[in-house]
Amino acid sequence: MNKEKKIALKGLTLSELEEYFLSINQPKFRAHQVFNWMYNHLSFDFADMRNISKELRNNLAETCFLQTLNLVNTQNSASTETKKYLFETHDGKKIESVLIPEKDRNTLCISTQVGCPLDCKFCATGLMGYKRNLSVGEVVDQYLLTAKGAGKEKITNIVYMGMGEPFLNFETTLKSIEIFTHELTKGLSRTRITVSTAGIPNKIKELMESPFRVKLAFSLHSPFEEVRNRIMPINKKYSLHENLTVLKTYAQKTRTRITFEYTMLKDLNDRDIDVKELTRICSKLPCKINLIPFNSIKHMSPAGISAELEPTPINSIYKFADKLRNNNITVMIRETQGDDIAAACGQLASVFA
Ligand code: SF4
Repeated sequence: MNKEKKIALKGLTLSELEEYFLSINQPKFRAHQVFNWMYNHLSFDFADMRNISKELRNNLAETCFLQTLNLVNTQNSASTETKKYLFETHDGKKIESVLIPEKDRNTLCISTQVGCPLDCKFCATGLMGYKRNLSVGEVVDQYLLTAKGAGKEKITNIVYMGMGEPFLNFETTLKSIEIFTHELTKGLSRTRITVSTAGIPNKIKELMESPFRVKLAFSLHSPFEEVRNRIMPINKKYSLHENLTVLKTYAQKTRTRITFEYTMLKDLNDRDIDVKELTRICSKLPCKINLIPFNSIKHMSPAGISAELEPTPINSIYKFADKLRNNNITVMIRETQGDDIAAACGQLASVFA
C-alpha cells in the first residue's frame, strides 16, 4: 500500500490506539502492546513486536506505518556537546531539534511547526516564514529518533522551544505531552517538560484547564508594550498586559513558577528602566528570568529591525542580572550552546525547508 494511504500509528495516544485496534476487531490490549513498543522500546518496525502474532504484524505493516521523520543530518558543536538534528518529513520539509547536555540533565529542544508565522525579529525561525504545522507523530518522533541514537535514558528533559509556536499547533502539542507523560511511558515526567510561548492567552488558559500541568515559559524579551510590538508583532494582537494576567492565574492554579525568556538586546531591553519594570512585573507572580545572550541570525540575511539588533555584551548581561538579583528576582544566564552550528536559541531555521 502507498504510504500516503497508510495510517500513522506513531503519534496516536493510548485511547486512540485502543479505538484503532477495536476498529480492526482486535482486543484493546493490543494498543498497550503497540504503545509500549513505539514509545518505550523505540521501535520503528512492526517486525520487532514479538508479543504480537506474525499475521497481525504483517497486516499492520501493510496498512500502517511507524516512522514519520527521517534523520538526515547530525551536527556536533566543536565547542560544547550540543548536537543539532536535521529531520526530513514525508513531504520533503526540513525541521530541526537540538540536544543540549548540561551537568545534571540532557535537554531536547523540539519543534512544533515547519517555520513559524510569528515573525519575532530576533529569531531565525521567524525569518524563514511558516510552512505548516507538524503532526503529533512528527513531534514525538523528534524525541524517539534522538533517544534511539543517544540512548533513551540520556534525554531527561523536553522543551518545546524549537521551530514554531506550540500554541498555534495546540492539539498536537497537547497530544504529544499526553504521550510523553502517560503512566505507561517510561523516563519522562510532566515536571521535566516545558512549553514555551510567545503569548497566546486563550491557549495558556486551555493548557491550564487541561490535565497536563507542565512548566510554562513565556517569551518576554521586553517589559514594555511598545518594544514588544516592535520585536514581537504578536504583541499587537495579544498584549503583554493580557498575557501577564493569564500567566498569573496559570502560576496560581498550577502551583508552578513561570519562566520569562529574555533575549538580551543592546540598548533595547538592557537599560535601567527595563530592570525597574521587570522588577515590578516579577513582584506580581512567582517567576524566574532566563537571560539569553542574543545569537547571531546573520546566516538568515536579515533586513529591517532584525538587521539592526545587536547583542548586549556579556559583562553587561552579568551586571543586568546582578541588578535584578538585588531586587530579589531569581535570574539565570543561559549559557550559549551550539552557536557554531546555528543551534543556539533563536537560530534554528532549516534554509532548505
Ligand atoms: S521566537 Fe518562537 S514564536 Fe517567535 S518567531 Fe521564533 S519560533 Fe516563532
